Amino acid sequence: MRFSSNTMALHNADTVPYLTYNSLSELKFINHAFSTRLGGVSEGEFTSMNLAFNRGDDPDAVTENYRRLCKSAGFDFDTLTASAQDHNTFVRTVTKNDCGVGIYKPRDMQSVDALITNEQGVTLVTYYADCTPLFFVDAKNKAIGLAHAGWRGTVERIGEKVVEKMTALYGTDPSDIVAAVGPAISVCCYEVDLPVAERFLALEDLDASRFVFPKPGGKYMLDLLECNRQILVKAGVRAENITLSDLCTNCNSDLLWSHRATNGHRGTMCAFMCLV
Ligand SMILES: [Zn+2]
Repeated sequence: MRFSSNTMALHNADTVPYLTYNSLSELKFINHAFSTRLGGVSEGEFTSMNLAFNRGDDPDAVTENYRRLCKSAGFDFDTLTASAQDHNTFVRTVTKNDCGVGIYKPRDMQSVDALITNEQGVTLVTYYADCTPLFFVDAKNKAIGLAHAGWRGTVERIGEKVVEKMTALYGTDPSDIVAAVGPAISVCCYEVDLPVAERFLALEDLDASRFVFPKPGGKYMLDLLECNRQILVKAGVRAENITLSDLCTNCNSDLLWSHRATNGHRGTMCAFMCLV
């Protein structure tokens, strides 16, 4: 495995690897991480770091994977609180009372594609395998958010919805937000058909010529990272405060889970973030 990134760092590569954003690591009041496909105990097509309980893996193995990742990246397992993603745009506010939901307690809510909090003692957890993770940190009011933006969540502007909810609940000024986008399947590998491309071309307030690229044969290459970046800028996040990952999940499928690279026979990665 050869790792190269200008925006992310790989830690504990020989044991339980995880990624961090260089830009977010400068913020000392948070801890954040993105898992990989390596360093876990799962077997078969989930080998070895699978963090999804809902894809047929042994739940004891998944729990052990969470424990290993938490130990490696410095999170408290007892504080993990998970989303319940279904490609919609509902943003859930969580507190310490929600710790364990979706991890060691049952899910108590459907259709949660984004989580926000301004409390210490709760770690946000969201799921990925090609879809785009969005990280949000209000560097002034000390509030955080994670969102899952596949093509549906992106075109329905989940990034903007997170910014709006942080503003409404935590008094966040969007210009104080530090954000990161990815790792996800990137424009090099993310081919879509006309009906999907048309949804993106219809985002008239954005510059779609920078994220929808026609190919011969009626297909399109789609840059979900760039589209999310533009949505965040429209929501008031400063362009210089947004980092895009340069790690395509499909191109780096020896390190990262990619739904496309594995034809769906795969485990799942997580983004983690908490206030410390
Ligand atoms: Zn690629």
